[in-house]
Amino acid sequence: MTIEASQFDTLHLDRLSRSFGGQTALHGLDLTIEKGEFIALLGPSGCGKSTALNCVAGLLPLTGGQILLDGRKVDHLPPEKRGFGMVFQNYALFPHLSVEKNIAFGLQMRGVGRAEVKRRVAEAIDLVQLGEHAKKLPGQMSGGQQQRVAIARAVVLRPPLVLMDEPLSNLDAKLRLEMRTEIRRLHQSLGLTTIYVTHDQEEALSLADRLVVLRLGEVQQVGTPQQLHEHPHNWHVADFMGYRNLFDGTVERASDGAVTVSALGTTVHGTTATPLAAGDTVKIGIRPEDFEIIPAGDSGGVSIDAAIDVVEYQGREFAVEARTSDGVPIHMRGASHPAPGDSVTLSAPSERVLVFPRNLDAGAG
Ligand code: ATP
Repeated sequence: MTIEASQFDTLHLDRLSRSFGGQTALHGLDLTIEKGEFIALLGPSGCGKSTALNCVAGLLPLTGGQILLDGRKVDHLPPEKRGFGMVFQNYALFPHLSVEKNIAFGLQMRGVGRAEVKRRVAEAIDLVQLGEHAKKLPGQMSGGQQQRVAIARAVVLRPPLVLMDEPLSNLDAKLRLEMRTEIRRLHQSLGLTTIYVTHDQEEALSLADRLVVLRLGEVQQVGTPQQLHEHPHNWHVADFMGYRNLFDGTVERASDGAVTVSALGTTVHGTTATPLAAGDTVKIGIRPEDFEIIPAGDSGGVSIDAAIDVVEYQGREFAVEARTSDGVPIHMRGASHPAPGDSVTLSAPSERVLVFPRNLDAGAG
């Protein structure tokens, strides 16, 4: 059975697991993806992102679970029978074929008629804005252009699902931003269901409808960018969502989501979604943008005395790194900027100070 080009309404990844030898790389990934959704798998190196993608693609057999398209089991099918489009970090183009021949290849393999191939290749080349490069070989183009070819080659087949594994990580910062917009634009115009692997939080936030944060092969949280940004379930997710300041502390008292923590040599008032008790070891998460410089005194949430260490101009605002007297780095950002060496008091409101159990396996999950 070939399911090539057969669209589906729901893709169910049902408790996908994969081990290598005795080592678990992916454990119980459970996710239902609706047609047209853009899903990002996000996490640090080695967390199982590529393993998950390769299992869905059919490049790696599962050691547990199943993959269902509208209830039909497909995990026994080889990659070519699944008919999914793939885009890899290293482009994986045929070096001896021109741009248009690279893009045409998959259509020809599927026996699409010559006129139709020509029409669809021209359309795909247009879509990724490579018109003037159609006759070039991959080696005659920049990395960004080659990745456009790889994307065109995947989408020209109008696959039911596109799988992208860190497609932008070989590109320089400027190109990465341009290609990000390009991928978003393509997704908006074609509406192809996509699973996108990245370790880059900004990329995931800006592209995805929903994010799946992984750690050690296990899902930590699934949600919209806003849900994960505002309500990370644990400090690992918070770390990936831009809570760059993560401080160790010990709970002094906690009730109804309000928690007082001893940390950074001071008392910090924060909020938690996890039941905590006095004596629990915790991590406090605060985003750089939630700190502000205040006149010395109490702030309600946290107020920390620190000396400004590094100030970086970043266009509309400044990124500032300060240090406490114990040498703990504190990251903040904002429109106003002190000078290196200045002594300041940094403050964040208690609702912006998130408190998590330090033990990740005991978190809200
Ligand atoms: P990266 O961002 O570095 O690619 P990742 O999140 O994609 O990382 P995976 O490549 O999926 O992570 O790897 C998950 C775990 O499985 C790692 O511990 C890795 O060492 C292990 N692993 C992956 N492929 C193999 C393999 N072919 N043989 C043995 N172990 C493997």
